[in-house]
Amino acid sequence: MDDGSPVDAAAGGRDAPMLKLQGIAVSPGVTIGEALVLDSEGFRIPRRFVARSAVDTELERLSRAVADTAAEIERNRDAIRAELGDQYAAIFAAHLAMLHDPRLQEELVSAVRDRNFWPEYAVSRTLRRYAKVFQSLDNHVAQRAHDIYDIEKSLLRNLLGQRRETLAAISQPVIVLAHNLTPSETANLDRRYVQGFATELGGPGSHTAIVAEGLEIPAVVGLGPFLADVSGGEPVILDGNQGLVILQPDEETIARYRLEVETARTVAAKLDTLRDLPAETLDGVRIHITGNIEFPNEAEHCLSRGCDGIGLYRTEFLYLTSRREPTEEDHYAAYAEVVRVMAGKPVVIRTLDLGADTLRTESTPEEERNPCLGLRSIRLSLRQLPMFRTQLRAILRASMLGDVRVLFPLVSTIVELRQARMVLADVMEDLAEHGIAFNRDLPVGIMVETPAAVMMLDVFIREVDFISMGTNDLIQYTLAVDRGNKEVADLYNACDPAVLRLLQRSFDIASAAGVPANVCGQMSGSVMYTQLLLGLGLRHLSVPASAIPEVKQVCRSVSVAECRGIAERALQMEGAREVKAFLTDQMRRRLAGAGAP
Ligand code: PEP
Ligand code: MG
Repeated sequence: MDDGSPVDAAAGGRDAPMLKLQGIAVSPGVTIGEALVLDSEGFRIPRRFVARSAVDTELERLSRAVADTAAEIERNRDAIRAELGDQYAAIFAAHLAMLHDPRLQEELVSAVRDRNFWPEYAVSRTLRRYAKVFQSLDNHVAQRAHDIYDIEKSLLRNLLGQRRETLAAISQPVIVLAHNLTPSETANLDRRYVQGFATELGGPGSHTAIVAEGLEIPAVVGLGPFLADVSGGEPVILDGNQGLVILQPDEETIARYRLEVETARTVAAKLDTLRDLPAETLDGVRIHITGNIEFPNEAEHCLSRGCDGIGLYRTEFLYLTSRREPTEEDHYAAYAEVVRVMAGKPVVIRTLDLGADTLRTESTPEEERNPCLGLRSIRLSLRQLPMFRTQLRAILRASMLGDVRVLFPLVSTIVELRQARMVLADVMEDLAEHGIAFNRDLPVGIMVETPAAVMMLDVFIREVDFISMGTNDLIQYTLAVDRGNKEVADLYNACDPAVLRLLQRSFDIASAAGVPANVCGQMSGSVMYTQLLLGLGLRHLSVPASAIPEVKQVCRSVSVAECRGIAERALQMEGAREVKAFLTDQMRRRLAGAGAP
């Protein structure tokens, strides 16, 4: 949680009512700050003012941009007229009429001359207000809002020219409000300045959400269209716990959230005291809480929160921060860093889980109609053997530095597991021939992420040293719900009885075989599920660094016996809603019984 931004002055100078928007909470924390608005073209328009002495120059710049935009529209009109005729060219005539509308022109000039707005800010603010009026009318007229956005973009392009700024150039604290952010853009956000982000698109299990949690940046996604309601520099509250974004907050709301930020700091400080204590239940069962990481530097964050190791290292993120294919040395350096930080604690390195959402490489096909069901994860690695072997060599070399284990993602048939093991054995032989040291007994595990893997787990279990339940994908594939799509986000639910039954079957099979089972999907980091998971038989949880203290605190305050009772009751329920209400109630009771930490 974070505040400390200059919202006081801004809160006073507003002319719009407070607006509360509900989205999907994907990374916890509350933050109060200034908006940095990136529309679908990635324009960044801060609320900036011009010095009185510069007003004339800025007005000239504005007038030049209007002229350039008019010329651009005329060129488009002429090209379309030549190609398609007058009827289609009329669209551009309408754009020109809007651009030259005397009232609009007067408003723009007055915003710069009388209110000293930066021309970019004046354009963005004024045209967005116009667009909003259209949007509030019926469907047919609402379409015209797009025309206004087109004019806004064109004016901004001409105003900003070469000076167009990007996310990379942020130099002061902001809350990023964007149409969408890819995992790669999220990974490259400057943590020093980005206090939080909110997007119009995005679903609960997307990798953008996962990166946000890894970076510990509060985030809300799937808000739907809202960027027209906000301008850069305006005060914003982002509540990553409730999935709320509050625009133009009033003083009372700001004060309430400031208090919440303070309370969270106190709670975090108390949870810090658990750091060196084991995650042991009241009836003496030791739970292993490991960390999920995407970048090597997160290992330190996990350790400082008292983790028992790294349970999931998502290595494909090596691709997100580099433009070229990582070399063996790149892989090795990253793994070596994590293993050294963990100093003997286990480190589970997952082989590349490329493909699916935006984590694409040159080796994935350009167009896949169903990328989640396409060439991703272990399927891609088995097709791209040089890439796979490079990674396995680095993992094997790193196995000499500590307790390294390898995890294959999205294994859904026994043939895939056997092929992956064969490649591993082959790489081992190769290293041995060259006299390169490695751990021949490197533990091998699979991610259980498809219903097929659960149904065949009794077969898989004989050929693995451990399993890790990838519930993010397991939920997606079981319920046939795209984890990154906000339109079906309400169906994406870890509480669904189908998911619970698959988990129970998996833990039962693993336990009967004496094979450790872990859950590394996001549900393991949410304390709502901790008792349920322990009750189902889970003893290993892998969670984002930020969730370690709280999950540990829950483990230490419950008994496995009572958790079993909770799991049994949940398993008897017929619907996700009922399960969720029950688990929420159990969590409230626990908090009431223990008193908040
Ligand atoms: C999962 O699917 O639960 C998982 C941990 O892997 P990822 O989120 O990277 O797909
Ligand atoms: Mg997965």
